[in-house]
Amino acid sequence: MANRKLFLLPGDGIGPEAFDEVRKILDYMNDEEGAGFETDEGLVGGAAYDSHGESISDADMEKAMAADAVLFGAVGGPKWDDVPYDQRPEAGLLRLRKDMQLFANLRPAICYPALANSSSLKKELVEGLDILILRELTGGVYFGDPKTITDLGNGQKRAIDTQVYDTYEIERISAMAFELARTRSNRVCSMEKRNVMKSGVLWNEVVTETHKRGFEDVELSHMLADAGGMQLVRAPKQFDVIVTDNLFGDMLSDVAAMLTGSLGMLPSASLGAPDGVTGKRKAMYEPVHGSAPDIAGQGIANPIAMIASLAMCLRYSFEMIAEADRLEAAIAKVLDDGLRTGDIMSDGMQQVGTTEMGAAVLEAYKAAAA
Ligand code: NAD
Repeated sequence: MANRKLFLLPGDGIGPEAFDEVRKILDYMNDEEGAGFETDEGLVGGAAYDSHGESISDADMEKAMAADAVLFGAVGGPKWDDVPYDQRPEAGLLRLRKDMQLFANLRPAICYPALANSSSLKKELVEGLDILILRELTGGVYFGDPKTITDLGNGQKRAIDTQVYDTYEIERISAMAFELARTRSNRVCSMEKRNVMKSGVLWNEVVTETHKRGFEDVELSHMLADAGGMQLVRAPKQFDVIVTDNLFGDMLSDVAAMLTGSLGMLPSASLGAPDGVTGKRKAMYEPVHGSAPDIAGQGIANPIAMIASLAMCLRYSFEMIAEADRLEAAIAKVLDDGLRTGDIMSDGMQQVGTTEMGAAVLEAYKAAAA
């Protein structure tokens, strides 16, 4: 039995509620399938601040660094609106991403057939959609220096953000895009703005060079990021893997998210570089949604984004591909059967709460093994 070290950080609001459903799946996989997950649990966000005055403790950071993967719920809420900036709940999340050097953010946009009517696009455009947006997460304009607002002394101010990328940053994210494409439909579309940005020129060159050095079996195309945004809402199914920088990735992944219906459905993964000794990547898996304070504590949150984040964890950190496929198929089955939480409810469907939805997915997962 393999020892698979998972560090659990449920966080605030609906995070812990959705997490309860994931824990039941992990227990089942340990008890009945010998999965060998060793779990430990910590505090993050407002929960950590209430306990010890910071959004994640050094001790929990160490556990996150030592784990094979971190599962993260959500942080934040109005209760912590007035805490000092450095201790705000989101600071815990940012520290995890920074200290673990998670440079790649994977955001799948999958439209389950049963939910095709919930998209803001026509059903035929999104039904069966399965794309992956790979966003560079630790470089670019959000982090580049200088980053200033200067008073010009004439009643005007000047704000400067700096878009900066080095070759190695583009090489490692594009190599990851090609590797991921090989496990899917083998196509990568790289998006930048080489027509107006030097960083776009370099991005385009380095992606093309990386492709030539060992990834020529993968089909590569390039698109300007603004045209890419347009194509994402015109004909999203043309894409397989989209790789792009931090800023464009932030926007394009949110556009892609809305193609699929609800925030309560969307998982994500953030990955770092492979360890020189073990070859394993640091990794954190989390739903795209926040702590949803408006519905927290009511037992009505959709746990699917959290469960789908576990499926990504099985796939990318533990190479448990069959189990990941089975868990994703279980989610699709439950939706096909007409079960809906409030956020994805539509006429003629059966509305259920968090626990019922989690239990139904687990039952479908078990049934698929039989
Ligand atoms: P949110 O994602 O928490 O909620 C947006 C809307 O979607 C709400 O109406 C909410 O009820 C609904 N929703 C979200 N997830 C749902 C689910 N699983 N099931 C059913 N409905 C769901 O975003 P927000 O309201 O802008 O932010 C709330 C708090 O969460 C803020 O403190 C924000 O800073 C924080 N936040 C945290 C993260 C994170 O932890 N990664 C991400 C985004 C926002």
